[in-house]
Amino acid sequence: MSIPFLDPRQSYIEIKEELDDAYQRVMQSGTYILGEVVESFETDFAIYCEANFAVGVANGLDALTLSLRALDIGADDEVIVPSHTFIATWLAVSQSGATPIAVEPDEHTFNIDPALIEGKITSRTKAIIAVHLYGQPADLEAIQSIAKRHNLYLIEDAAQAHGARYKGKRIGARGDVVCWSFYPGKNLGAYGDGGAVTTNNRSIANKIRTLRNYGSQEKYHNELMGYNSRLDPLQASMLQVKLRHLDRWNMHRCTIAHHYFEALKDADLMLPFTPNWAQPVWHLFVIRHPRRNELKELLTRNGIGCLIHYPIPPHKQIAYLATGQIFDPLPLAEKFATEVLSLPIGPHISHSDAEAVTECVLKLN
Ligand SMILES: *Cc1c(COP(=O)(O)O)cnc(C)c1O
Repeated sequence: MSIPFLDPRQSYIEIKEELDDAYQRVMQSGTYILGEVVESFETDFAIYCEANFAVGVANGLDALTLSLRALDIGADDEVIVPSHTFIATWLAVSQSGATPIAVEPDEHTFNIDPALIEGKITSRTKAIIAVHLYGQPADLEAIQSIAKRHNLYLIEDAAQAHGARYKGKRIGARGDVVCWSFYPGKNLGAYGDGGAVTTNNRSIANKIRTLRNYGSQEKYHNELMGYNSRLDPLQASMLQVKLRHLDRWNMHRCTIAHHYFEALKDADLMLPFTPNWAQPVWHLFVIRHPRRNELKELLTRNGIGCLIHYPIPPHKQIAYLATGQIFDPLPLAEKFATEVLSLPIGPHISHSDAEAVTECVLKLN
């Protein structure tokens, strides 16, 4: 038996004709940087996210970095980040010149605990980055009211949450800026790198549009120290096709998650928790198990792909140890690193695959 954790090729096989047609049209068009196809995808993606504007960039890390730059966050500033996240959230802050200040997660949702944020705000704090980890929205209203009270920007890292809803509304425009990745393994993934920023704020959208293109709106006129971080039209053409299938693929993820919940409800492990206001899209299905390493070995031995998200929290990475920054104790992030395990989920996982996964998990109980 072989159940891969991820199969980025599956979507290509499934909708090959649509995709081939889309990228061949870009090849024929002669426009290989920005242009109509990128604009057209931006329009579709903004509508999908219920946002006024979308700006395509080169990847998710750049979406975050350019957003921080657009908000004039840099040296001497502090930015609140979750202690439990993919390191890109932190790296963007560090690359902007600011300092990431870690806040621990809620024990049940894995997302930043709003109750712990105010304790970390100082006179240097400029923004809060909320990550919708594993595809489940963070508690945006609670975080937004803290941001308002302290006059901070709210940046959302939605790299794992394409299509998720918070209190009925799509993730996409509640914060000042919302950052997306189209890395192939994401719910909406390209066949290469890609990213975007969505926002309801026209001037922020324009600034990111300028920053992504050498800081220039008019060729050879540079107003900002910009970047070269543009969404590739070949990728945009395929993302536009895939966007039309995203809700169906997300629905499939939900049915697999449903199977995991039902089959594992009496097992000796912790299942994910979903608050009633959250409509997650199950980018990852993450369980906590006291004998995590044993379970991982068992699954792997049985040909079932499973991964740890994430084995080392950012503050324990050599890159951050080397900065000399002193972090307050972050015991939950460290505990999660030893207990979490992601079961395979995605459009490539069939119901019989999911049954095989849960049968195997239950063997350890
Ligand atoms: C994937 C991811 C990113 C970075 O996206 P890239 O496109 O790989 O640069 C940022 N934040 C989170 C939470 C992610 O999962």
